[in-house]
Amino acid sequence: MFWRFIQAYLVPDVNAFAMANGCMRVFAGLMDQLSDDEVRGVIGHEIGHVKLGHSLTKMRTALLAAGTREGMAASGKGRASEIAASQIGGLAESVVNSQFSQKEELAADEYGYHFMVRHHYDPNAMVSMFKKLGGSGGLVSSHPASPRRVKNIETLIVKGAKKK
Ligand SMILES: [Zn+2]
Repeated sequence: MFWRFIQAYLVPDVNAFAMANGCMRVFAGLMDQLSDDEVRGVIGHEIGHVKLGHSLTKMRTALLAAGTREGMAASGKGRASEIAASQIGGLAESVVNSQFSQKEELAADEYGYHFMVRHHYDPNAMVSMFKKLGGSGGLVSSHPASPRRVKNIETLIVKGAKKK
């Protein structure tokens, strides 16, 4: 299995994210607001970002930026590998705060849909999850929701139902 573990942060924030090494974090606030299947939808979506390499690309970009800064401060000693060890906390933070593109969101949603179907969870939970998280901040700020994303999932569900 690609991702190593899922950890829950016992904080009221409504958020979740996947890191480039395959770790996943789900905030307790998210689990309070959503049904089990809706949380599974979020996790499937996050796994999609990891599997499709979105998180990795973001991490690499953040590493390069940090490497440039550190390289100047440490007069040439700022090798990317050393920085990765020393600044991983800060990097994780910047990855969390960076937005995925709409294209990445749609691709991760599609992955999430197939994740739900494969594990016999209700893919409709992804639609209700979008509706519940319709506001701003938290999960929505790093994974911008849009009517197009809802439509995308609904289309997949209709197509999937026809196949049966
Ligand atoms: Zn996303």
